[in-house]
Amino acid sequence: MDKTPKKIKKYVRQALADMPVRTAVANAAETSVASRDKIAGGIPYWELVRRKVRSIKKDVLEHLDEYLIEFESNCQANGIKVHWARDGASAREIVGKIARDCGASMVVKSKSLTTEEVGLNAYLAENGIEPVETDLGECIVQLLGQIPSHLVAPALHLSRQDIGRVFQDKLGVEYTEDPAELTEIARVHLRQKFLSARMGISGANFGIAREGCICVVENECNARLTVSLPKVHVAVMGVEKLIPDMAALPYFLKLLPASATGQKSSSYVNIIGGPGREGAGEGPQEVHVVLLDNGRSRILGDGQLRETLMCIRCGACLNSCPVYRQIGGHAYGWVYMGPIGSALIPQYLGEKEGRYAPSLSSLCGACREICPLEINIPRHLLKLRNKVVRAKQSGFFERIAMKLWAFAAARPLVYRFVTWFPGKFQMLLPGKRAFPAPGYMGRRAIGRFDSKGFAKRFRRMERKND
Ligand code: SF4
Repeated sequence: MDKTPKKIKKYVRQALADMPVRTAVANAAETSVASRDKIAGGIPYWELVRRKVRSIKKDVLEHLDEYLIEFESNCQANGIKVHWARDGASAREIVGKIARDCGASMVVKSKSLTTEEVGLNAYLAENGIEPVETDLGECIVQLLGQIPSHLVAPALHLSRQDIGRVFQDKLGVEYTEDPAELTEIARVHLRQKFLSARMGISGANFGIAREGCICVVENECNARLTVSLPKVHVAVMGVEKLIPDMAALPYFLKLLPASATGQKSSSYVNIIGGPGREGAGEGPQEVHVVLLDNGRSRILGDGQLRETLMCIRCGACLNSCPVYRQIGGHAYGWVYMGPIGSALIPQYLGEKEGRYAPSLSSLCGACREICPLEINIPRHLLKLRNKVVRAKQSGFFERIAMKLWAFAAARPLVYRFVTWFPGKFQMLLPGKRAFPAPGYMGRRAIGRFDSKGFAKRFRRMERKND
């Protein structure tokens, strides 16, 4: 799937014209928010846990260098090989080399946004190594040649009828739309892959510094099979995913499933603390962790935007966002989407390539309210919009409009005229219709202007208040 944030306008138009997808996304998002509210409301001390988790992440980000060194040395003591990847290219090369060294021609993967971020699947395929996604949603979007449309539910935009047709076309099975039968088809398709793969690739929800291990949270058991059946396990994680110690983990495990899927707890919590022990007869012989920077150090250097690195990828902000609910995840043009995607895209890809992303928000604040870490996404989006303007990357018409606005706002007479004129003009239109705004009104309603003008109305209000 050709996806680049440069083409965001085109993707947004396509998404708005696709009513079935809009309906599927809006319904799924609404259901997720309702289940999240129900579960969060029933968890005692929810707000205290939120504050605790926030303070833990804040401390980790402020002392990330120390935590990373502690994590590396404790992982090594546990027999885990730690690799440092400055950017996407070095992460791809590291994983590719490990795959070649163990003779893997096919690898199984559990859901990992970080590997999507670095374009690992395409790289492996180009180098003759078949990557097989084993999370059900990821497996479906991979068969379709798409990227995920949601951080937690990659195939959220598809109906079961769509999935039935994908399995029929790509796996050569009979069409069915029965969820149990569809799951069984995926299970049979993937089981053989698990049994024959020499290498498994996962992400990591958390890296635990003091104990030198990683934690992978999931519901389908595919991650457990990915990290334990093949001879070699590679986990690719962003450097910001660290938490200080095992004692901090339960706080995160309380917030993550409730915010992500409206569950009290996840079905599987995998803690990987090294290769299989001798005599145990199970577990991988080699475990590697690839620590990815890819711009995170730069983000860490910004005292305000650093907060976006606290994200635990629960997806709750997507579900609550009125913009995401209308356009879905693909319209953002990259692997991160929704409110947090709008904030991450320009930071990872730069103000030029990611210039449209910070504008995909109404700044209503629903994302901040629902975020388990209370990340102030609207504030960050404003700063990022400002950076786009300063880098002279805003659109031509936007620049002209802002210049005209600045001109009028600095001249009271001009300002009075431009706020008075539309109201008077619409009085002359047949039926006193709203002021015509071609293009703008094609997709939304425009209210009638006040015929007295803003300045008059404001003065009247002031007099009344006095
Ligand atoms: S920003 Fe907050 S709500 Fe959104 S995915 Fe990250 S942790 Fe979840």
